[in-house]
Amino acid sequence: MTDRLVADAAGIARAADLLRGGALVAFGTETVYGLGADATNAKAVAAVFAAKGRPSFNPLICHYADAGAAFADVVPNDAARSLAQAFWPGPLTLVLPRRANSSVALLTGAGLDSLAVRIPSHPTASALLRAVGRPVAAPSANRSGHVSPTTADHVVEGLAGRIAAVLDSGPCVVGVESTVLDLTGPPTLLRPGGIAREALEAVLGPLGTAAAGAAFRSPGLLASHYAPTLPVRLNATEVAGDEALLAFGPPLPGAAAAFQLSEAGDTDEAATNLFSGLRTLDTAGARLGLRGIAAMAVPDAGLGLAINDRLRRAAAPRG
Ligand code: AMP
Ligand code: MG
Repeated sequence: MTDRLVADAAGIARAADLLRGGALVAFGTETVYGLGADATNAKAVAAVFAAKGRPSFNPLICHYADAGAAFADVVPNDAARSLAQAFWPGPLTLVLPRRANSSVALLTGAGLDSLAVRIPSHPTASALLRAVGRPVAAPSANRSGHVSPTTADHVVEGLAGRIAAVLDSGPCVVGVESTVLDLTGPPTLLRPGGIAREALEAVLGPLGTAAAGAAFRSPGLLASHYAPTLPVRLNATEVAGDEALLAFGPPLPGAAAAFQLSEAGDTDEAATNLFSGLRTLDTAGARLGLRGIAAMAVPDAGLGLAINDRLRRAAAPRG
């Protein structure tokens, strides 16, 4: 059984006890729901991979209550300190050299000599991390390859019976995962996410983007990911009567079902709605026997970069 915990003081205390005891607890953050485990407990971390059905041991992001705690496990450089100042707490993950004396289990970082660290800004996540008092490893709380969860209901749909509890803090505000930036060499964007590239460049100057070989350095960068059951078609300029429409701005006419990401064409609002939209259309598509989801184009600016990254993976050939 998976307990549903209300995000009040008692629920947070219960979730923290479960995590400290080695159990798996999903919790809301500003990005998406994370599937948490005590990052210092290799057995608990292994259970995360099993619950998600992850095909391999991709490195997990470690979550902390504050930058001081994070920098006790990794070695910060000047760029990391500036970015922490500007964007933490918030949806930015930094990959930095792991400290030799870090108590984080090797499995959490998939045996790499670097570690990905983040300080969530959501007050419930923050209170939970303070109560646990240890780093919490947390990938998105969904079955591997599926659409990330932005509500406690989404978590239960995918992981009921596989995890001890979900701490329900309501729908996620940002809606896409954190931006992952590698700072072990020249700053390199590994995954676009909740902090826009433009915002990072305002602090750091021009950024490199992970190119060939990045999938090795960041194994989570798999082509097919975030995938609904229905096939997804990108940059739709017309839509058929047996398709579902993922709309951005004025919707194309003629779809059997439609979900509006942002009527006003706002990429922040669209990011918030993205994963709910894919799930809603998937459900409607199954009910109505539709052949696929047609997604309208979203500009690459701001959080559009993260949205397009997720949509491209949702549309990629399934492995
Ligand atoms: P998720 O599991 O959905 O939270 O995604 C975590 C992302 O961070 C994946 O793309 C991982 O491959 C990436 N990541 C985590 N740790 C590292 C690391 N040490 N080096 C490079 N990428 C990492
Ligand atoms: Mg994920």
